[in-house]
Amino acid sequence: MAKTGSEQAKKSAAKPKKGPAGAPATKIRRAKVPETRTGLVRQARRIYRGLAEAYPYAHPELDFENAYQLLVATVLSAQTTDLRVNQTTPALFAAYPTPEDLAAADPEALEELIRPTGFFRAKARSLLGLAKSLRDDFGGEVPGTLKELVTLPGVGRKTANVVLGNVFGVPGITVDTHFGRLARRFGWSTSEDPVVVEQDVAALFPKRDWTMLSHYLVFHGRRVCHARKPACGACPIAAICPSYGEGETDPEKAQTLLKYELAGKPGQRLKPPPDFPGPPAPPAADTAGAAGAP
Ligand code: SF4
Repeated sequence: MAKTGSEQAKKSAAKPKKGPAGAPATKIRRAKVPETRTGLVRQARRIYRGLAEAYPYAHPELDFENAYQLLVATVLSAQTTDLRVNQTTPALFAAYPTPEDLAAADPEALEELIRPTGFFRAKARSLLGLAKSLRDDFGGEVPGTLKELVTLPGVGRKTANVVLGNVFGVPGITVDTHFGRLARRFGWSTSEDPVVVEQDVAALFPKRDWTMLSHYLVFHGRRVCHARKPACGACPIAAICPSYGEGETDPEKAQTLLKYELAGKPGQRLKPPPDFPGPPAPPAADTAGAAGAP
């Protein structure tokens, strides 16, 4: 017998909508921040595993082939998207393939090349200072220790840890705006000071996980857990997040907030390394989601 309209309505109302990770959306309750240290560590590790499962392809999203290129690209990435930097650096590195070449650059020509990344005058000054220091103080080589890296003009702990973790294989926690925000949402730190956040988070994870943890948090912050409108209803770790509900919890509305993962093409790299597990980023015209989310 055919069902009446009201029977069908009752049936679909009784069947909860599916939420993130297949859990019924109506049953997700905000997880508590554990009161004990052991509980906090355990929850932090679960979040790590959840993010590792969600972003198995997490990686630095700046294109680079060596430490010098990553250092320069990281300086350029301030206040812009990695995609924009990746569109800018091929011409830059073709013009100045080594620190010595960059140190001898004409400031105006350099400004013109990096103009698309914004704040191009200040960035040009930083790059020239950085290149001169590499040439004069380090024989044209990028040093491989935090202590030395932070002596370079324009290089703070964040940039130094990016280079250490991704070129030298030295575990490093990179506290950028995404990492800091998510660490606070997860209850790992209450501080706004990146150095304190780094220390707080370092105490929760083994060193070997630091570099990938940094990638996972940045990936998640860029795609799902945004500053103003986190997409909680489409979040793969909603069930274990102490801040679930801070953003949109309706799965369908939350889906519309997701960024970057357009047409199944993760990431912003235009020249991924050969072992990159996914396809490269779509061309700029395809990446509306990248705007405003460095
Ligand atoms: S999107 Fe929501 S549920 Fe997911 S990590 Fe961010 S605050 Fe937590």
